[in-house]
Amino acid sequence: MAKLHERDKNLPNRLLRWFEGSGRTLPWRQGAPRDPYRVWLSEIMLQQTTVVAVIPYFEKFIKLYPDVYTLANAPKDEVLGHWAGLGYYARARNLHKCAKIIASDFGGIFPKTEAGLKALPGIGPYTAAAISAIAFGQPATVVDGNVERILARLYGVKVPWPKSKKKLYSLAKDLTPEVRPGDYAEALMDLGATICTTTAPDCPACPLQGDCLAFQEGLQTTLPIREHPREKPIRQGIVFWLEDNGQILVQRRPDKGLLGGMLEFPSTPWSQEEISPGAAKPFAPVKTDWHPVAGEVRHTFTHFHLRLKVLKGETKTTGHNGQWLMEKDLMSAGFPTVMKKVAQHVLGEKKI
Ligand code: SF4
Repeated sequence: MAKLHERDKNLPNRLLRWFEGSGRTLPWRQGAPRDPYRVWLSEIMLQQTTVVAVIPYFEKFIKLYPDVYTLANAPKDEVLGHWAGLGYYARARNLHKCAKIIASDFGGIFPKTEAGLKALPGIGPYTAAAISAIAFGQPATVVDGNVERILARLYGVKVPWPKSKKKLYSLAKDLTPEVRPGDYAEALMDLGATICTTTAPDCPACPLQGDCLAFQEGLQTTLPIREHPREKPIRQGIVFWLEDNGQILVQRRPDKGLLGGMLEFPSTPWSQEEISPGAAKPFAPVKTDWHPVAGEVRHTFTHFHLRLKVLKGETKTTGHNGQWLMEKDLMSAGFPTVMKKVAQHVLGEKKI
C-alpha cells in the first residue's frame, strides 16, 4: 500500500472484517487459496454478465469439465453449445483456446502474474488482476465498474466517467493491501454488489461510511457522474427460414467477429439501412418462393439493437452448403439467443 492518507490506512482492514461476516457464498469461492481453474472460469463467465446468470452455467461447466484438461479435450462445438444463452460468444471460444494452451504449454498450471495471464486468450487487464489476486494472492489492482463506483463515492470524485478512469485506478492501486489482496478484491466486489449498489446504496450498513465523502456530502446517488451515453444504433436484416420436410437449413458463422463460430439461420448482412424483401433475395440460400413472416425479432447486443424480419421458403433442392437440422432439435443445437428468438418467432407456440 502506498501514498495513503491517514484516514485511509485502516480502510482495507475494515472492509476485510466486514467481508468475513457478510461476504457472499459463491460456487467458485471454495478453499483458501482459491482454485485457479474455478477463479478463471468464473471470471471469464462474469465478464459483462451478472452473478445470478452465471451461477447455473458455472455449475454446469464444473460438472462437465471439472478441470482444465477436461475442458481442453472437449470439442469446441460442444463447449459453445453449453455456453449458449450466456452471450458474448467470443468468450467461449477464447475459454476453450485458453484451456488448450494451459493444458498443452503450461502443464495444466495457470501463470501467477498479471503479465503472464494477460498473454492468454480472453484474459484482459481486469481478469488478469482478479485471477492473480484471488487465486495467487498477488497484490494486483482489481478495478471494474463496481470498484470505480465505490471509489468515486468514497473519494467524492466529481470528474465524469470515463474521464475519471485514470484517477480511480490510481486510488485503487494506493488502497490495495499487500496482505490478503484476494480477499480484499472479493470484498470490494461484494460491497459493490450488495451495499454500494448503482441506484440504492445502503450507506447505514456500509463499513466504509465513516470515510465516504459522497455520504458526507449527500452525493451517494449522484456519484459517479457519467458523460451522456451515446444512443445505441439500430441495425436491420432479413433472415431466411428454409424448410424441407421438417428440417431447417442452418449454417455456421465465420470464426471471427460477432457470434463467431455459432450456428445461425442464413440472413442478409445486418446494416443501418432497412432492406426490402426484394433487395434481400440475392442473399437467399436458394431460389424459391419466399414469403414474409408477420412481425419482427428484436435483440440487443452491447453496441447495437437488432431488428430482424423473416422470409420463409420451402424446397428440397439446395446448392447451399449449410446443414439441415430437425425442427425438434433446434433448441438443443447451441444457437445464440438471437437465433433462438428467430426460431421461437417462426414456430410460435409449437414446442421446439
Ligand atoms: Fe457507498 Fe454509501 Fe458506503 Fe459511501 S457510504 S461507499 S456511498 S454505500
